[in-house]
Formats: sequence, structure tokens, C-alpha cells
Amino acid sequence: PAQVIPELIFPAAHFPGKECVSIPPIRRDRLEGKVAIITGGAGGIGEATVRLFAAQGAKVIIADVDDDLGNSLANSLSTQVTYVHCDVSSEKEIETLINWAVSEYGKLDILFNNAGILGDQSKHKSILDFDAGEFDRVMAVNVRGTALGMKHASRAMIGAGGGCIISTASVAGVMGGMGPHSYAASKHAIVGLTKNAACELGRYGIRVNCISPFGVATRMLVNAWREDGDGCGGGVTEEEVEKMEELVRCLGNLKGETLRAKDIAEAALFLASDESRYISGHNLVVDGGVTTARNCVGL
Ligand code: NAD
Repeated sequence: PAQVIPELIFPAAHFPGKECVSIPPIRRDRLEGKVAIITGGAGGIGEATVRLFAAQGAKVIIADVDDDLGNSLANSLSTQVTYVHCDVSSEKEIETLINWAVSEYGKLDILFNNAGILGDQSKHKSILDFDAGEFDRVMAVNVRGTALGMKHASRAMIGAGGGCIISTASVAGVMGGMGPHSYAASKHAIVGLTKNAACELGRYGIRVNCISPFGVATRMLVNAWREDGDGCGGGVTEEEVEKMEELVRCLGNLKGETLRAKDIAEAALFLASDESRYISGHNLVVDGGVTTARNCVGL
């Protein structure tokens, strides 16, 4: 059963013209009865979202290529969380994943297209050294994976009267100079795909949105910062995470705060829940104002 924190009653003084205003209780059931797939759910932003969605009552399917991490996360949580191996760049694997979710739980309410790779930093420093093979690899995971997820999830959702598709874009999909060229192209593409799919799928009651985070000290980012890192795989130490968080704080616009995976999970929860029931085609930028501040001429 949902754990409900007692309702807060604010005195009239806070809201002139009203007798008293009741603020709804903090809820723990915002996804009760929903079935959600989270790609790239074994670590980082995906893992934080798996934990939050499960805590809010959803049945969660972690879809990832890291079987060890995915299985151990699922085993550490309740029986309502399962792990399924899925390489999002493979249409067959995406289709199998979504069919499995529907056959196991009877429906699919939420797809979070979150799996992504940064690409090999060493091959992406300059456009003069652009590597077409590396570009294809990044696009296959980040863009093809997202589009295939949208395709097969919407097929399942149309028959059920609606649903919600969220994808992880990036600040690198909002402005230039925020990541390697292929990565930036892939994240701009996710924003475009989101808008286009939202146009088409609105008639079926399917909402399509994306989230654009600034830097979060996950394996992807920490790994990329290492010499010749490829932005995926490999464990990271606590010290490396702290150093990365410090770097992001320095580069950030909103001082005194540290962006963490949980903050992106909260944005995904909002977009997945009924609180955002009229929001579609939106890119929710979670960057403490960095993309706005970088575009300003100075105040
Ligand atoms: P992460 O490396 O911790 O997590 C990515 C997950 O995706 C991993 O579990 C990995 O195994 C999985 N994955 C990789 N390739 C896959 C594939 N082909 N199929 C299925 N799963 C695959 O990194 P993260 O930072 O949590 O990244 C999550 C998303 O957030 C990515 O799309 C990334 O581009 C985006 N993002 C991250 C940041 C950041 O600063 N960390 C900023 C903006 C956007």
C-alpha cells in the first residue's frame, strides 16, 4: 500500500483571499499499476529511475546489455522489478523485449528510452578527424535505439488506448559545444524524433517527451574524462565521481547544487505520471539554466 505523508494545511496568511489551502500529500503511488520499461536501466540515470519508478508502484523492466549489473539491481529490489537483456540497436531485441513485457504484464504504459553512449572521445575531438564508423555506432544506439523503441512501444500502446514515451536527450542536443560531434548530432536527433512522434501519436493518447540533462557523474561521464575513455563500461571510484561532480559544479550555472541521477529520475517520474497528463512534444531541460546562461550576452 502507498505510504502517504499527512496532508499539510497552510494558513490563510500564505494565500490571501483564501480561507485555507490544502496542499496534496506527498505520494508514493504515482505509478501504481503502471508497467514501465527502462532501457539503460542497469546503471547511472537509468538505475536511479528504476529505483524511483519501483518506489512509486510501477512494475519495472530493466533493459540493458550489462547483464551482471542489470541482474544484480533487479535482485536487490522487489519482485516487481525484472531484468531483460536487450541491445537497443537491434530491432529484433527491442521487439522481443516489448512483446515480452506485454505478454508478462498484459500491457505497456511507459517506455523510457534512456540507453545511450557517448562514443570514443579520442576519435571525436575534431570534425577534421571525423570517424564515420564511430558515428554509425553512436547513432545506432542513441538514435536508432530510440526510434525503434518508439515504434514498438507505440504499437503496443495504441491497442491499449495510450501510453507515455520518454527519451533521454542531453544539453548536447540543445546547444553546440557540449559533447563530441556524433553524440551532439544523436541528441539533437532525439529531440527532433520526440517532437515528430508526439505530433503523430497524440491522436492515440500517447504522450512523447524527452529530458535533456546537464552533466551527471555517471560511469559514462567519468569514463569519458579518463584519457582515451570511450564513454561506456568499466567501474568508477567514489573519488572519480566526486571529482567529476566538482567539475560539473564549476561549469554549472546554478551554484550550491549538484546535479545527480536522482534529479533526472524525478523529471522522468513527472513526465511518466498523470501530473503531466497534458504535456507532450516537450524537451524538459534539467541543467540549472546552463544552456540559457551560456547563450546570454552577460548581465
Ligand atoms: P551510464 O553509462 O551510467 O548508463 C548507460 C546505460 O546504458 C548502461 O547501463 C549501459 O550498459 C547501457 N547501454 C549502453 N549501450 C546499450 C545498448 N546498446 N542497449 C542497451 N543498453 C545499453 O550513463 P548515463 O549517464 O546514466 O546515461 C544515460 C543516458 O543519459 C544516456 O542516453 C546519456 O547519453 C544521457 N545523458 C547523460 C548525461 C551525463 O552527464 N551522464 C548527460 C546528458 C545525457
